[in-house]
Amino acid sequence: MNEVDLHTHTTASDGTHTPPQLVSRAAKLAVKVIAITDHDSTAGVPSAQTAGERLGVEVIAGVEINTDVPGAEVHILGYFVDPDHEELNVELARIREGRVGRARKMAEVLTGMGAPVRFERILEIAGEGSVGRPHVAQALLEAGHVATFGEAFEKYIGRNSPAYVERMKFTPAEACGLIRRAGGVPVLAHPVFFDRYGAIKSSVNLEALLAETIAAGLLGLETYYPNYDAVTVEYLLGIARRYGLVVTGGTDFHGSKPNEPDLGGVYVPRKVVRRLREAWERAMDDGR
Ligand code: AMP
Ligand code: FE
Ligand code: FE
Ligand code: ZN
Repeated sequence: MNEVDLHTHTTASDGTHTPPQLVSRAAKLAVKVIAITDHDSTAGVPSAQTAGERLGVEVIAGVEINTDVPGAEVHILGYFVDPDHEELNVELARIREGRVGRARKMAEVLTGMGAPVRFERILEIAGEGSVGRPHVAQALLEAGHVATFGEAFEKYIGRNSPAYVERMKFTPAEACGLIRRAGGVPVLAHPVFFDRYGAIKSSVNLEALLAETIAAGLLGLETYYPNYDAVTVEYLLGIARRYGLVVTGGTDFHGSKPNEPDLGGVYVPRKVVRRLREAWERAMDDGR
């Protein structure tokens, strides 16, 4: 296992581990530095940091904001954000409320399609966390409408599937600005993804996206990620160098799931943490 994992989800969003459970797992696997990057919430950070102090795991405060781009998934990570920053919390709360309304809509659409799921059940599955499509997928699975999690996305709630419902989102540039104002380092998450045949599927023009987000304060590019082979990593390292961005990486851990890496299961060089921290310090000196 690796010592660094800068992309993890807890029960504060759609992960299966509570923040203290996630930190215990990191300690058990000898992962020394983790970042908690829940979707649209920093609620998991304080209890993870408390557990981290006890167990000798450094816990970096983070967040992952899913942004609004036509036809694409663009996620912006924010590292070293102040979890109590007022504007950040007000805006994230607004996004989370949008998630609840959207889950209700999805339940309606699914029911109309002959795959009834109860909205209340989706909320129950989400518990305290930001409700999202994985919770809807779980409800579909429980109701016996699909046999696997993947099938739920393919058949019903994937971006191009019939029960997909949009929700309130920021633009990538707005997310970067918000993270900077909250004292954090904005990083473009998983910049390339692959289709089911393993081909690179870039639904956004990466160069145009970078121009726009760097102008809004973007400072980093996620470069080490599950299934990113050496060629992809080199490609992203080259882009980062060209644009003067720091690189980050992690597993996007959502819980121990088959075919997904465990915490620390993606190679991330230790120096990444130092450079990320330096970028944060520089940003703090320039701004505010
Ligand atoms: P949401 O933020 O509610 O739109 O849900 C996005 C989350 O759904 C992602 O962070 C993943 O955890 C999960 N997800 C998205 N697409 C898939 C997929 N095809 N298979 C499994 N999980 C997915
Ligand atoms: Fe997720
Ligand atoms: Fe993401
Ligand atoms: Zn993530």
